[in-house]
Amino acid sequence: MKSICVLPGDGIGPEVVGCATRVLERVTDELELHMADIGRAAFRRSGEHLPTDTLAAMEASDSSLFGAVTSDEGTGYDSPVLRFRKELELFANLRPVKNIAQVSTAAMDLLIVRENTEGLYTMDEHEDDAGVTTRRRVSKYACKKIVEKAIDEARRTGRKGVCCVHKANVLRKSDGLFLQVFRDIARTHGQGLTFSDQLVDSAAAKLVTRPDAFDVIVTLNLYGDILSDLAAGVVGGLGFAPSGNMGDRQSVFEPAHGSAPDIAGKGIANPTAAILAAAMMIEHLGMTEEAAVIASAVSETYRAGDSTMDVGGNLGSHAFTEAVIKHVVKIERG
Ligand code: ATP
Repeated sequence: MKSICVLPGDGIGPEVVGCATRVLERVTDELELHMADIGRAAFRRSGEHLPTDTLAAMEASDSSLFGAVTSDEGTGYDSPVLRFRKELELFANLRPVKNIAQVSTAAMDLLIVRENTEGLYTMDEHEDDAGVTTRRRVSKYACKKIVEKAIDEARRTGRKGVCCVHKANVLRKSDGLFLQVFRDIARTHGQGLTFSDQLVDSAAAKLVTRPDAFDVIVTLNLYGDILSDLAAGVVGGLGFAPSGNMGDRQSVFEPAHGSAPDIAGKGIANPTAAILAAAMMIEHLGMTEEAAVIASAVSETYRAGDSTMDVGGNLGSHAFTEAVIKHVVKIERG
């Protein structure tokens, strides 16, 4: 048995996580799901967006499945997502992007490995009369961890090439350090893989014009955040982008999209990213076959012409999930 902390959160978070847990419960009875609050509901209960007991429940579980939270504007807001990434030392964010819905002809099958703890996401901002200064941290330690993770994942998933995406021509010291670490590790530990590097601006253009050009991208926090949404856009939108926050001792899986307040409560959110995030989670926990069944069932559902409203289909979240479950049953029966 594996214990899973389920954190639905705000907006469409509870809707898509509910769909994902329905699919999980169909493919395995080896999971114990425990609910915990995060985001606005947690704040109302405890005065914190990530309460201590929620963090403890995440720590005590084998993994967590998270939906989304709505960021509150204004000073004093402590992002629960940035906090759990930091507290659980989730240094890598894995974002696979694949063209499953076939809404475009893009032959994209990409893994973005994003540094998850530093860069511009340390909330280190200082205001003075003239403006605001934001400090951006790039450490040797974090560069080494993320490059090693990208190489490990490339090997584990049978991929061929790793491209380091950076802006070292302008940010010579910080991104220069990242590129140097990448080259050093590639030279000493890169047997069997090909290595390249590319500036982030030209990588963005290439993802659109040649979506098949990349295999694994390893990159810093902000670039990874933006490029993974861009890549998701190429294959249908944010409803298709699962992600896994990975550390040495813990992991949290989530759809890469936010809480989408504009469609929350309407039952029309695309649950694909959340369902695929759940598949990534059980694969990480060793349930490789069950994870593959979910991934195939999702692809088969789109192939059969059943699709969600964000890509021109007519199925709401619930009906789409039922269609996926039908394909799960079909695959399981052989
Ligand atoms: P937040 O403040 O939580 O980041 P947001 O609306 O600014 O929310 P996203 O939630 O990432 O950011 O949504 C961006 C756009 O993509 C919205 O128009 C939203 O409706 C759409 N979107 C996001 N996720 C989905 C989904 N699963 N299905 C359909 N549309 C989605």
